[in-house]
Amino acid sequence: MIGRRTEWSLDLPERYYTLESYEGGVARWCPGCGDHGVLTAVQRICRDEQIPPEKVVAVSGIGCSSRFPHYMHTYGFHGLHGRALPVACGVKARRPDLHVWVATGDGDCCSIGAGHWIHGVRYNMDMTVMLFDNNIYGLTKKQTSPTSPMGLVTNTHPSGAWLPPINVVQSVLGFTNASFVARTVDWNLAHLHQTLRTAYHHKGLSFIHILQRCTAYTADLFDRLRNDPTKLLLLTHDDGVPVDPAVGKLYTNQRVHDPSDLAAARQLAEPDDVVPIGLFYRNPDAPLYETFTEHGLTMTVEDKLAAVERELDRFAV
Ligand code: SF4
Repeated sequence: MIGRRTEWSLDLPERYYTLESYEGGVARWCPGCGDHGVLTAVQRICRDEQIPPEKVVAVSGIGCSSRFPHYMHTYGFHGLHGRALPVACGVKARRPDLHVWVATGDGDCCSIGAGHWIHGVRYNMDMTVMLFDNNIYGLTKKQTSPTSPMGLVTNTHPSGAWLPPINVVQSVLGFTNASFVARTVDWNLAHLHQTLRTAYHHKGLSFIHILQRCTAYTADLFDRLRNDPTKLLLLTHDDGVPVDPAVGKLYTNQRVHDPSDLAAARQLAEPDDVVPIGLFYRNPDAPLYETFTEHGLTMTVEDKLAAVERELDRFAV
């Protein structure tokens, strides 16, 4: 009978998180924008891993993809242009128990944020960094970005972009202490999901270069890769991104690549007509900066005051 004393319990009911637990505001990206798929993939991973929403932080800079934190029902920080990584590092330094997802774009990360990009990767704090690369500044309506291909007609280069684009994966593989570098595409949700999931489980900064469609300004840019799956080279390995059977069937152009081989990873990242996707490089032994920033986090207020007093006493005259 309901209300009988034997049915009472002071135990909290076990929480189960559904997809809705992570869904924030209605995403206002354009219809067909690749950002929608990435958002769904992250929400699914959070659900599958049953991460309490209050333990998740989405951090971003400025740009279309940087609206990401608004669409997560978690903690979030929509920061300044190019400053997603310093904020994310700050979060991890004080709260290493939180799961940090960083959303940044090719303009945000590879231009104004390039200095932070280098050092964020070098700090190797445990977080998942997603570079949404649509080869254009979308939010500000079609200016040349650091990854725009030569000849792309934009509002800042009406006769076509002049300079060769930054090779994102090649760049990251050149940064000191890089510990996880992968590439995926927004239009294959299975590969996108598996790549982000593998990244999430990496202890350290996992950097994922996501080729992302911008239906408004670079709609045809990836058609060559989308219409001919042999133009993508699927990297496979037991220590790499697990290959879903449907993905393996679609992308028949495959290569076994050992992600511990940095020299081979750098060779694969060379510009080519065929674009590799999967895990280029992983080093689980790269030092993590939070190993150092964690010191003192458990100190009480009294301990901290005593430590400050001790330091000041050293300079007493
Ligand atoms: Fe997406 Fe491009 Fe629209 Fe921005 S402008 S929301 S990148 S489709």
